[in-house]
Amino acid sequence: MVTDDANADGLADVGVPRTGGMDWGFDNTFALELDWLGVRIDPVPVAAPGLLLVNEALAVELGLDSEWLRSPEGVAVLAGNAIAPGSMPFAQAYAGHQFGQFSPLLGDGRANLLGEVIDREGRRRDIALKGSGRTPFSRGGDGRAAVGPVLREYILGEAMHALGVPTTRALAAVTTGESVWREAGPLPGAVLTRVAASHLRVGMAELVRMRASDAQQVAFAGYVRRRHHPEVVEGDWLGLLSAVVSAQARLIAQWMSLGFIHGVMNTDNMTLSGETIDYGPAAFLEAHDPGAVFSSIDAMGRYRFGAQPSIAQWDLARYSETLLPLLAPDPGADAELIEAATERIRLFDKAFRAEYLARMAARLGLDHVVGLDAEVALGLVDELLELMGRERLDHTRTFRMLSKVLRGQAAAGGDGSDAIGELVVDRGVWEAWRDRWLAALSGIPSATRPEEVATSMDAVNPAYIPRNHLVEEALAAAQLGDLAPTHALLDAVSQPFTERPGLERYAAPAPASFTDSYVTYCGT
Ligand code: AMP
Ligand code: MG
Repeated sequence: MVTDDANADGLADVGVPRTGGMDWGFDNTFALELDWLGVRIDPVPVAAPGLLLVNEALAVELGLDSEWLRSPEGVAVLAGNAIAPGSMPFAQAYAGHQFGQFSPLLGDGRANLLGEVIDREGRRRDIALKGSGRTPFSRGGDGRAAVGPVLREYILGEAMHALGVPTTRALAAVTTGESVWREAGPLPGAVLTRVAASHLRVGMAELVRMRASDAQQVAFAGYVRRRHHPEVVEGDWLGLLSAVVSAQARLIAQWMSLGFIHGVMNTDNMTLSGETIDYGPAAFLEAHDPGAVFSSIDAMGRYRFGAQPSIAQWDLARYSETLLPLLAPDPGADAELIEAATERIRLFDKAFRAEYLARMAARLGLDHVVGLDAEVALGLVDELLELMGRERLDHTRTFRMLSKVLRGQAAAGGDGSDAIGELVVDRGVWEAWRDRWLAALSGIPSATRPEEVATSMDAVNPAYIPRNHLVEEALAAAQLGDLAPTHALLDAVSQPFTERPGLERYAAPAPASFTDSYVTYCGT
């Protein structure tokens, strides 16, 4: 094991009752093939499991019986009080750069990988419990999670999924009947069941690089390749690096286009699959602001909204370093390979820009323009974002309103209305931008009607995102036992592009007084 200094004193290992019940079809490739990269350990049972939420749609995707998951037997498995057939609970080890500082040993301090399930589309997905008790990697922590953060992760994951962003998702949330002690005092405890393409992280590669044998390094890189980038030829480690860089560039471009702030882009929170993981202090922008930071633990603003692409590139440079022993075993002789790896990291920028431009162009309807000039398009995007920042316009709502502006202004049949013009202070600057945008749109083939463009814009500009004040409202009610606001919010954000009567308050920005003082908390 690469983590022999982890202290396992007094911990349950394989002591939880095995249950019959539903067959999940568990596989345990990680626990079996990379058994040295963590510890076989069962969850720590909780006092009184109670059901909060089961994700019906995801259960169907995974071929699981949601009725059974809701049964007392199912809830016991979701709480870690019973182990499903075929599951080999495992706490994964990893390291990580946290706020730029290297932590040589982190690992699942409050999570157990239960195993892997092949979903209906043939994809291998990890099923893990989060908040499931202490492990050898808990350090000073209690191994638990509170209802609030568990539901925040559930809601944000579902919203991101519905927005088309690769993400881990929640299959279920259960209460524990126990209190967890946090700064605020005692809070109701909960366990989240998390579904992920995998939990392979940059930080895990960093631990492997530091501690594993040559054979283990190859086994780990090979596992990453087979699991996420099977198109890369075995042994082509530069190809693997490129694949991870591209997947992350695509992901971060989506975050940036939607105004999503992750909040803790430490290397242990960056996946090798390209999925968003670990919604600690994550939040969506309200008024556009590249400097926005909501996280209570990010006083320096390292992970502010506008810094996310360069931070991702920094994290990926740490990943590239983990591949060097495989790529260039003899650094003196292999200088060219090291240069090639550096070049792959530089390619992040190019891949990010291309993906970001494509996403933003679609948000402006410019994807219909034949022979679109990338400089013109990026100029329009940057100027709009700057204007939104100055006018404190809501990121999500402003983009959603652009199709209305287009409909109102469309030469034939438009009523001349301009919903954004109604909101701004400096109307002249807005109208100048608007007219340049409409001029750029005149490059659309005449057979494409403005209504078609507006409709396609509505399919990429969400009406509903999990706005911070609505998330807080839902979590506060849930802690008092009322899940109705959580269900209502989940319902809105699960169909983000379909505006529905009665849901107006889910599309409206928070009062500025809320956003100005809004702080999110991590690791709680
Ligand atoms: P996170 O901030 O959730 O990404 O966690 C960073 C590291 O701290 C991971 O190794 C977690 O397993 C660990 N950790 C966070 N909260 C707890 C907790 N309450 N008990 C034990 N370990 C924790
Ligand atoms: Mg984490």
